[in-house]
Amino acid sequence: MTTDALIIRENNNIGEADRFVTALTRELGVVRASARGARNIKSRNSSATQLFSYSRLALRRGRDKYIITDAKPITVFFGLRSDIEKLALAQYFCELVGVLAPREEPAEDVLRLMLNALHFLADGSRNPKLIKAVLELRLLAMSGFMPDLTACFECGAFEGPMWFLPEQGRIICGGCSPHRPIQNCCRISINVLFAMRHILYSEFEKCFSFTMSDNGLSQLADYTENYMRIQLGRGFKTLDFYNTLKTV
Ligand SMILES: [Zn+2]
Repeated sequence: MTTDALIIRENNNIGEADRFVTALTRELGVVRASARGARNIKSRNSSATQLFSYSRLALRRGRDKYIITDAKPITVFFGLRSDIEKLALAQYFCELVGVLAPREEPAEDVLRLMLNALHFLADGSRNPKLIKAVLELRLLAMSGFMPDLTACFECGAFEGPMWFLPEQGRIICGGCSPHRPIQNCCRISINVLFAMRHILYSEFEKCFSFTMSDNGLSQLADYTENYMRIQLGRGFKTLDFYNTLKTV
């Protein structure tokens, strides 16, 4: 079969000419595949099976993984490799999507979200913190971790001071929260709440289109990261590395 796919991981086994990759495909979600001879740079499959390449792959099912019989690059996100922060963020996105995206099932929406995130990251047209927040929150929502940020879960108020409960994926208003002592909740600024609602509830075409101060984006990206960590109950090495770069 032929499918469009983003290469999200490369495992090169030393001493072998084949390249083993993990790819996010349109038709089959996340798959593991090997490309014969692709580590030879003269191979026509070489650039199309590198990390971050978006390519058209011809796949054949093997015993425990797929065999890439042909690969043609569609887009190579060159801009990602010129900047260590962008590179680290792109690697984290790939690791996150490798965990959350469906397997052996179509993943059209997830692929589209990832391609948009990498495109904006590579061309520098959006703040990396904004891209991170959108990718994290929207991807979690698509993957069964959709929070309900429409209104206070007790009284239905949708305005006024709100507290976010990342474990429950809900918000509670200032009037209700004193009567419900809850651990692990934090006051959420109105700007951050609006931005999270925009990311979750806007049409796909608009989800990366909003503006916030740099400080606001930092808060937003911290909220979405915290929500991810609590919902998934884990962290990511690539994310830890990205966070060390921010403090330099
Ligand atoms: Zn309330």
